[in-house]
Amino acid sequence: MMSKPNRDDEILPYVGRFAPSPTGPLHFGSLIAAVASYLDARANGGRWLVRMEDLDPPREAPGAAEQILQQLTTLGLDWDGEVLYQSSRLDAYTEVLARLQEGGFCYNCDCTRSQIKAMGAVYNGACRQRITPPQQEFAIRLKTESVKINLDDFIQGPYQQNVGIETGDFVVRRKDNLFAYQLAVVVDDEYQGITHVIRGFDLIDSSPRQIFLQQRLQYHTPRYGHVPVIVNEMGQKLSKQHFAAPIDLKNAAQLIHQTLQFLGQSPPQPTQFATAQSQLQWGIENWDIQAVPKLANIPQDKLE
Ligand code: GLU
Repeated sequence: MMSKPNRDDEILPYVGRFAPSPTGPLHFGSLIAAVASYLDARANGGRWLVRMEDLDPPREAPGAAEQILQQLTTLGLDWDGEVLYQSSRLDAYTEVLARLQEGGFCYNCDCTRSQIKAMGAVYNGACRQRITPPQQEFAIRLKTESVKINLDDFIQGPYQQNVGIETGDFVVRRKDNLFAYQLAVVVDDEYQGITHVIRGFDLIDSSPRQIFLQQRLQYHTPRYGHVPVIVNEMGQKLSKQHFAAPIDLKNAAQLIHQTLQFLGQSPPQPTQFATAQSQLQWGIENWDIQAVPKLANIPQDKLE
């Protein structure tokens, strides 16, 4: 449906990215994704971009985007080029959505939250066949089909999902008119020429949906690596929703040291005068993605 050639056969120069949602300052969990994507890009001589995923104003914390950029700068996680703000990309998402609609790949869905809940984990396609236009607010869903999407994850190994059966038709524009993460991330990964996506394991089950959408749009598919997600004492993913503490920049070298350890690397213990930058430099020179564990088995308080 688009004229863009498929670039899968070309050897593209490495472009990686870190794509935080500005719902609060970085905590140790989000720092792991930042450092892993940074090290993998730099160790491969690649570019490393930062994209601010500020698409969901109700969930955002005032000042968080600036705080995150400040934290990255203090740690020496220097990005290339300008930060891309998703809030500046609404025209691009609108255009892609219109193309999907014109191609007959989407439909409007006004199912209520309770109706969707009653369907279980997978949306049953109830609105696919509707003829009458919705009378109330509606979401836009992408039609999926029974197709196996395979991922050869750098860290987790082979991962397979049948998007039609395991995920079902998914939302690309929400009922509240906001573009869905799945659409925006795919449009922007393509726009920014991303070749490698290194991010948290919690997003691995989104990857097949993203690949499915890339294929619909005849986009390039990046390579993926999902790093383990750190959990708190209760076994919950360290996240802003679970009130993870912001990282403490007073001890930046130690913090990077802990991050490297968590990622299965064996950095030397930082001396009293070590900087975060010197720890990162060690990380670039010695980065071994094969050593990154599949699962997080080290609680943060057990790291030295
Ligand atoms: N913005 C997402 C998050 O903070 C990450 C998106 C991605 O890396 O694809 O969880």
